[in-house]
Amino acid sequence: MSDKSQSPSVPQFVDRHIGPDPAAVDTLLNTIGVSSLDELAAKALPAGILDPLSADGVAPGLEHLPPAASEHEALAELRALADSNTVAVSMIGQGYYDTLTPPVLRRNILENPAWYTAYTPYQPEISQGRLEALLNFQTVVTDLTGLEVANASMLDEGTAAAEAMTLMHRAVRGPANTLAVDIDIYPQTAAILATRAEPLGIEIVTADLRDGLPDGEFFGAIVQSPGASGRITDWTALVGQAHERGALVAVGADLLAATLITPPGEIGADVAFGTTQRFGVPMGFGGPHAGYLAVHSKHARQLPGRLVGVSVDADGSPAYRLALQTREQHIRRDKATSNICTAQVLLAVMAAMYASYHGPDGLRAIAQRVHDKARAIAAGLAGAGVEVVHDRFFDTVLARVPGRAEQVRAAAKERGINVWVADVDHVSVACDEATTDAIVADVLAAFGATPAAGDFAGPAIQNRTSEFLTHPAFSKYRTETSMMRYLRALADKDIALDRSMIPLGSCTMKLNAAAEMEAITWSEFARQHPFAPASDTPGLRRLIADLQSWLTGITGYDEISLQPNAGSQGEYAGLLAIQAYHNERGDTGRTVCLIPSSAHGTNAASAAMVGMKVVVVACRANGDVDLDDLRAKVAEHADRLSALMITYPSTHGVYEHDVAEICAAVHDAGGQVYVDGANLNALVGLARPGRFGGDVSHLNLHKTFCIPHGGGGPGVGPVAVRAHLAPYLPGHPLAAELSDRHTVSAAPYGSASILPITWAYIRMMGAAGLRSATLVAIASANYIARRLDEYYPVLYTGENGMVAHECILDLRGITKATGVTVDDVAKRLADYGFHAPTMSFPVAGTLMVEPTESESLAEIDAFCDAMIAIRAEIDKVGSGEWPVDDNPLRGAPHTAESLLIDEWAHPYTREQAAYPLGKGFRPKVWPPVRRIDGAYGDRNLVCSCPPVEAFA
Ligand SMILES: *Cc1c(COP(=O)(O)O)cnc(C)c1O
Repeated sequence: MSDKSQSPSVPQFVDRHIGPDPAAVDTLLNTIGVSSLDELAAKALPAGILDPLSADGVAPGLEHLPPAASEHEALAELRALADSNTVAVSMIGQGYYDTLTPPVLRRNILENPAWYTAYTPYQPEISQGRLEALLNFQTVVTDLTGLEVANASMLDEGTAAAEAMTLMHRAVRGPANTLAVDIDIYPQTAAILATRAEPLGIEIVTADLRDGLPDGEFFGAIVQSPGASGRITDWTALVGQAHERGALVAVGADLLAATLITPPGEIGADVAFGTTQRFGVPMGFGGPHAGYLAVHSKHARQLPGRLVGVSVDADGSPAYRLALQTREQHIRRDKATSNICTAQVLLAVMAAMYASYHGPDGLRAIAQRVHDKARAIAAGLAGAGVEVVHDRFFDTVLARVPGRAEQVRAAAKERGINVWVADVDHVSVACDEATTDAIVADVLAAFGATPAAGDFAGPAIQNRTSEFLTHPAFSKYRTETSMMRYLRALADKDIALDRSMIPLGSCTMKLNAAAEMEAITWSEFARQHPFAPASDTPGLRRLIADLQSWLTGITGYDEISLQPNAGSQGEYAGLLAIQAYHNERGDTGRTVCLIPSSAHGTNAASAAMVGMKVVVVACRANGDVDLDDLRAKVAEHADRLSALMITYPSTHGVYEHDVAEICAAVHDAGGQVYVDGANLNALVGLARPGRFGGDVSHLNLHKTFCIPHGGGGPGVGPVAVRAHLAPYLPGHPLAAELSDRHTVSAAPYGSASILPITWAYIRMMGAAGLRSATLVAIASANYIARRLDEYYPVLYTGENGMVAHECILDLRGITKATGVTVDDVAKRLADYGFHAPTMSFPVAGTLMVEPTESESLAEIDAFCDAMIAIRAEIDKVGSGEWPVDDNPLRGAPHTAESLLIDEWAHPYTREQAAYPLGKGFRPKVWPPVRRIDGAYGDRNLVCSCPPVEAFA
């Protein structure tokens, strides 16, 4: 793959990233029956969209990428970018606080591939470790908020607030369409609420809710505790008044403050939302960190996102899995009320473990220390005659400095401290875990004040009397040894990329290289407040600009926003842009969104969120969009047609040959084309959606561009547009360089601190490397399709019998003939040491396999061997040798405990169960639990840590 003339003996990064070496690539090509990767591309992709290489051999759009750097060169460049940033003392607050990440958590979670390379826990039997960690997260949230059910997790505080709004709207079934929002909430939260409310027809009335609910009919109210100004308000009366008038109340609550002050649930609030950032997760220039959403149990089934629950396995032992999965957006489609898919799992795990490591008393002590520092600042200010506006605060002190706010800000900056200028007369200062006495003295000096001898005269704030985090999970792991072992024990239960390929179709589980990950924990990137002055972050801004230019080139678009912090949010932002474009041109009746039946569930959910009406376009028997149906629907809705959302290559894993024609039909009717770019791993360097008909696309940097899945997040879902949509890209009220049009994430650049991963990937691959990766990914998928087709028919192929980067294996005939289901095969793969492919998406009864370019031929062959051996097992069920309800497939996965028993009463041997291809096949991974009964868990919903006795 590499340029051999440069350094014949030292492999370049591209050779480390791409699994198959040149000899293996030859094997792939021979099996497929083509003579070169380029011939494969020419056969698989429609000629009309395949970009020819330029005269000097570069793919169009990639000319401006610098030549591939080595790992050490790329890291040196990142180091230089980092060094140009300034790590200030951040006292800005506004939802982002410095935090002291315990090194044991940084090293063993954030920097540990066993945690960060894991996939979303859809196969719960081999995901018990992270499911337990997420259950701990949910318990932290419910205990600290005083509510009963919490999910795991939300994308950030602002979007959690928006979900709280729509949840209350659904739950209050009355006609009220108005939400009351307190004036003292964060500006970014207010901006996201406004963006979300508008297309749904929700009206927002902003008022000082200390005066009570304004006149009128409301379905809900949103307040914050503490408020954006630092003020602590007792909202009990408001809650009572709201309930009397049939409205619900959601409280944005700081979880550290909630260790000291009465939590939302105890004043009767129905919903709590917020972030867990300050529980050990660096600010990261805005993200990623885990937002949270908690509700009273009567609203549990309204909760969006993923909810971890407790159930039982085949032996009746407790086991964790995702609960209420039928509510998930991929099933609800256009009835969906939220589009959240990828969440913030890795960061939720960090926050949960931070709580376990500190325990309830540790958290209380940290909170008390933070509060004491804030009191010390208030006392010093008061002593110097500076007015402290609110006398009940937790960590943030609001000072009135008439006409002097800018002067104070500058004086603090001179001392290396960033404070928050609320307006020309007010400055606020937020304390956190990292605030020291020296910082208190320095910030006081910026006001011309000095530390006072006595305490601040304001009242005590501590009024929480209830206990929290009493479960042993929050007391057992208080030493580093025990925490290290706990994290190892949990990780050992899971199959992540550090143990096996994860052949998940549509999810591109490729290598997340160590060199790509290295920079994200550097403090110059990690300890940046998203609203810090731009002069603090020239390196990050340079990195963002590089990425914007590289990614627009790769996709053929004109502009891109990195704000969306998941693919779903990119879709939502892209559809908002389309709607704004139509409306601004006076074309206001366009509300129909055409979506092929094969689409990812987030597509329809996003369309519903921008108020579009979803019209489903049929697929032909070969999986392609049915052009006749498309033309009919375009004609039927012509002047109401807003957009078509089409995934390319399709979620069926093929390059549809009609894509250009499809786009043209939509454009001719005045519609816009949204190309879902989650499958860009099949396009980079070969074709550009912005050039073959797309007006807008989102990309998933956590798929194609190497950001790890983290067990279900973080993600980055940039939205890229042609020039005519550029004015409608996401903006932010607190970023001067962005518009203030739509705000989709709480931070201007979303999950900025993980952008170095994608930067490093592109920087180290270079134009030729990126193109090679795509070609090998396609070759590997086609190789698997050829090897497995005779055992499991490949459902869809393109014109020359080729698939794209993934293939769908059809088990429906097998199931009909033998009774063996996709579930059986998926669980049996765990016995063979593999993670299952995507199950029953986009077609029920099938498995979708995506090997990516990173898997070696040996690993791909082992997977194929396992699948072929499983087919032989299926045949034994089919022939009656094994009964359909007692065979190694139905019994899978097999735990060691279930085999190490004296009486074995099954028609297959224990060795067949555990070592179906012999002991030398590959390292044995023992599943910790047997098959989990999902329905039982849904009937008996338990979403926080179960009592220890349950495991006796
Ligand atoms: C993964 C995926 C999405 C959603 O992305 P998230 O980051 O999970 O929100 C949308 N469309 C397709 C085709 C995908 O594969």
